[in-house]
Amino acid sequence: MADHYLCVHGHFYQPPRGNPFANGDIPVEAGAEPYRNFNEKITADCYAPNASLGNFELLSFNLGATLAAWLATHAPDTYRQIVEADRAHRERWGVGNALAQPAHHTILPLSRRRDKEVQVRWGLMSFEHRFGYPAEGMWLPEMAVDLETLQVLHDAGVKFTILAQSQLKDSKDGAGPYWVKLPSGDRMAVFARDDWHSNQLAFNIREQGGAGRWARNILAPLRKTYPRLLLIATDGETFGHHHAGEEHFLHWLLAYEAQSAGFEVTTLARDLRSYPPSVEIEINEHTAWSCWHGLNRWSNGCECTPGDMRWKPALRRAFDNLAGWVDEAYVECARALQVDPWPLRDAYFRVRLGQITANDLLRDAGLTRLSSAQAAGLLRLLLAQFHRQRMYVSCTFFFEDLDRPEPRYGIANALRAVLLAQAVTQQAYVDSFRQDLKLAISTKSGKTGSDLLDEALVWAQEAQARGVEA
Ligand SMILES: [Zn+2]
Repeated sequence: MADHYLCVHGHFYQPPRGNPFANGDIPVEAGAEPYRNFNEKITADCYAPNASLGNFELLSFNLGATLAAWLATHAPDTYRQIVEADRAHRERWGVGNALAQPAHHTILPLSRRRDKEVQVRWGLMSFEHRFGYPAEGMWLPEMAVDLETLQVLHDAGVKFTILAQSQLKDSKDGAGPYWVKLPSGDRMAVFARDDWHSNQLAFNIREQGGAGRWARNILAPLRKTYPRLLLIATDGETFGHHHAGEEHFLHWLLAYEAQSAGFEVTTLARDLRSYPPSVEIEINEHTAWSCWHGLNRWSNGCECTPGDMRWKPALRRAFDNLAGWVDEAYVECARALQVDPWPLRDAYFRVRLGQITANDLLRDAGLTRLSSAQAAGLLRLLLAQFHRQRMYVSCTFFFEDLDRPEPRYGIANALRAVLLAQAVTQQAYVDSFRQDLKLAISTKSGKTGSDLLDEALVWAQEAQARGVEA
């Protein structure tokens, strides 16, 4: 048995884009040429070559729900190779090497508990739909963490997650894994990624002189000083997209060079089974892996992005108010129909995944007695729940300015949600939403959230002309 282990975890993800009033297909994107959009380009740069080289069998990885759905439709061979890699790993080792991810890449510590729960449950449903078994591990969007998030993961059956060393009060045992004590008194296993070595590959892989040299010069000497497990965790797109051709670095490292340097290559569920945690540590709550400013990146803004960041809290307040109206409309409707709203919302994701029809959902919930108008209203409010979850996708708040595709996409999803709710309750939610959005102002163009709302309203009108509801 080896005394040193290496695990490389790749976070493979692309955010949802496109028109939420149409089929959500990603539009033509400037800069992706000769491909139509970045999903196609990154598939050619990264997902397809890594799949062809067999890297997904050697890595630990998570495949975000929106990317998985896109690949299944637009790059089915690559998608099959990735799912197959996890299946082969499971056959060989008895556990998979894929992790789940919350459904909409929401910054969970900024969400109310009920939203944390649905994001985690929908993410687990998506994983099981793709990979055919329940996930053991879950990747946290941007590694954003608080204890309530870990508690929600635990309560949903998740056994482990990954945090950056900087998010732990102590990481003397390398990658661990460690126990983190939860508010309930239960414990959750947490692996600690090595920040320095992860960033070395994420940002400077080109300067390492190839996998062989990196393994000899950097990895091999760590056998004298480093604890048992070294965990490199970074965006999967590092290997081939952020750095062209570096899928070969990953392949040579995991297939040959790590062993030559005295490290056995492992994956997280495998490691957890063989080496359960023995040490308990504390986490630094309200932190993330992106920058030192914790959750400010997605809430109040931070100095990593230039300019006036006051649009971020203003937009978040507009969304939070909207979420309140949409939830209230849904809960009132569900209670009037004598159905428990939140389990029904969980189950609704099966309709989104294409596992069941809306009629199946109503039948399974014992709602066959509903009139067609009642059923249509309830289904509208469930679809509103989906879009109001999706508006919180982390990239809405990540960048420097309001006048960008990501906030525009968030506002369009919010509009879709609020129009669906408004069609049922006849309340003038859009007017109130517009008032809130006026407080979010772009430094770059001077546009307000209200201007972006007008642009999204054009999409809504076009959809209405095509006969799409609300
Ligand atoms: Zn920052």
